[in-house]
Amino acid sequence: MTESEDIAEIRRAVQALCAEFPGDYWREKDRERAYPGEFVDALTRAGFLAALIPEAYGGSGLKLDAAAVIMEEIQAAGCNGASAHAQMYIMNTLLRYGSEEQKAAYLPGIADGSLRLQAFGVSEPTSGTDTLSLRTVAVRDGDHYVVNGQKIWTSRAEYSDLMLLLARTTPRDQVKSKTEGLSIFLVDMREVVGSGLTIKPIRTMMNHSTTEVFFDDMRIPASSLIGEEGKGFRYILSGMNAERILIAAECVGDAKWFIRKATDYAKDRSVFARPIGQNQGVQFPIARCYAQMCAAELMVHHAAQVYDQGGNPGEEANMAKLLASEASWAAADMCVQTHGGFGFAEEYDVERKFREARLYTVAPISTNLILSYLAEHVLGLPRSY
Ligand SMILES: Cc1cc2nc3c(=O)[nH]c(=O)nc-3n(C[C@H](O)[C@H](O)[C@H](O)COP(=O)(O)OP(=O)(O)OC[C@H]3O[C@@H](n4cnc5c(N)ncnc54)[C@H](O)[C@@H]3O)c2cc1C
Repeated sequence: MTESEDIAEIRRAVQALCAEFPGDYWREKDRERAYPGEFVDALTRAGFLAALIPEAYGGSGLKLDAAAVIMEEIQAAGCNGASAHAQMYIMNTLLRYGSEEQKAAYLPGIADGSLRLQAFGVSEPTSGTDTLSLRTVAVRDGDHYVVNGQKIWTSRAEYSDLMLLLARTTPRDQVKSKTEGLSIFLVDMREVVGSGLTIKPIRTMMNHSTTEVFFDDMRIPASSLIGEEGKGFRYILSGMNAERILIAAECVGDAKWFIRKATDYAKDRSVFARPIGQNQGVQFPIARCYAQMCAAELMVHHAAQVYDQGGNPGEEANMAKLLASEASWAAADMCVQTHGGFGFAEEYDVERKFREARLYTVAPISTNLILSYLAEHVLGLPRSY
């Protein structure tokens, strides 16, 4: 079987699973701001969330490019992969930098669904995009680290057993470069919720199960440290490239959903005794979004391939995320416009997907910061901040 046949089979399998979770399932979850646990369980049972876990640990050992296809198809089917996507991208940090003991301890459970790895604690209220200014500290105390500080936007923390946490282990004024002295921990939240860890949900414009978390003398075993102490920022950057590629793939899926929905509606809806899609003023925006989506899709797969070949896809991952998030947002806006008033009615799912798609030009990294990266690191322009 050629790789493209494998990929086509993955697409069909994800489509079949997603067909079991139609619009009314998502509408109800959205209305109640409820976690789509049944959907996440179904993805886990089918092995999709273990796609990147090596076969030796119970996963299917697929490459990032295949994982990107899974996330794309979830979104293209009208489902919301934000309920589970972190497991895919957090996985890369554990796979690339975790010890054999950590992999053996956690990966089989994550693969069979008895453990969830869904929470990623990087953002903080005061530091914003300036990650290197984060204030959460982890201080070594014998066989433990003691963690104090606060994270914000730690999505799915209430529905995850494990959290990947970035904290400062050496004060900023004691390191040569501010990128040093940060460390990554795999925190088993089941052991610390209520004794050092407090999770508070944040209600947002879409159903995203995001939270703020507070660490108050939270004691975690020293064995929670991933890789070497002080090297966490380097590890997290590599994980962030995987995250950007996977989120970009989700945006491509969203764009495909909006384009298909708009095209179907434009063929079907008749005004002035002809389909609205017969008007160039309606069909051109759809066609433009289609071209934008296709360009972004190419960049996503290119970035994934660079990643899979062991290269540093910083440039490609950032461009994929920029192009795909802009393509999905343009398609979302176009889809509302094509639907006229019905674009605002819950039962069409357009307004729900519109709200969900809005996130991705802001998170996990905003468009401005991607442009700054390209200007400085690719084009050699002076650093702007
Ligand atoms: C629903 C949701 C879920 C999230 N989930 C997670 C998660 O699970 N884990 C996690 O760690 N984080 C998460 N985040 C955080 C997300 O990654 C950040 O919101 C994002 O990186 C932007 O950071 P900020 O909100 O602090 O914005 P700020 O840094 O305060 O920036 C605000 C605005 O100013 C602009 N800006 C800032 N500095 C510059 C500059 N130098 N030049 C030009 N423009 C600039 C930005 O582009 C942005 O538009 C989530 C956020 C949301 C909203």
